[in-house]
Amino acid sequence: MAVNEKVSEILEKQINEELFSSYFYLAIADYFEDRGLKGFANWYMIQTKEELDHAMAIRRYLLDNDYTPTLEAIAKPTVHFENDLAALKAGLAHEEHVTECIHNCVHVAHSVHDIRTMRMLDWFVQEQGEEETNARDMITDMELFGGDPKGLFGLDREYQARTYKQLTALPL
Ligand code: MG
Repeated sequence: MAVNEKVSEILEKQINEELFSSYFYLAIADYFEDRGLKGFANWYMIQTKEELDHAMAIRRYLLDNDYTPTLEAIAKPTVHFENDLAALKAGLAHEEHVTECIHNCVHVAHSVHDIRTMRMLDWFVQEQGEEETNARDMITDMELFGGDPKGLFGLDREYQARTYKQLTALPL
C-alpha cells in the first residue's frame, strides 16, 4: 500500500528535523569541547549520532514502503551559548520541540487511518519521553552540583562514561 501523501510529507519533514537535531547537538558538543568539559561533549556527541540514527530509521521506513524521500537543506544551528546551564536548557527546549513534531506526525497518520505509520511512530513517542527526562536530569544535576568545580568535575566524569549504541532497526 502506497504511503499517503500527507504522511510522506510530514515524515520527510521529520527526517529534516532529526538531521537538524543532530547538527544542533554537534554545536552543543563543540561548546562543551571548547569549555574543556569532555564528558559533557561526549554526551552530546552521542546525541548527535542518535539523531542521525532517527533520521535514517524514518528514511528506511519510507523506502521500505516504496517512497523515496526528498532531502531539503538543513538550517544553521545556534552556536553560541551564554553558559553551561544555558546550553543544557537549549537541549531540553529542543527535545520538547521534537516531541511536538513527533506528536504531529502521529496526528497526521491517525487522521488518514495509517495504522502502520502510527505503529512505527510509537517507538519515537516513547523515545521522546526518555530524551526529555535525560535532558531535564542533566539540568537538575548542573543546578545542584555544577556550581562547584569538584561537583562539575564529577558530572563531567559521569557523562564521559556514556557509550553509544547504534540503532540498527526500530525494535517494533
Ligand atoms: Mg530524535
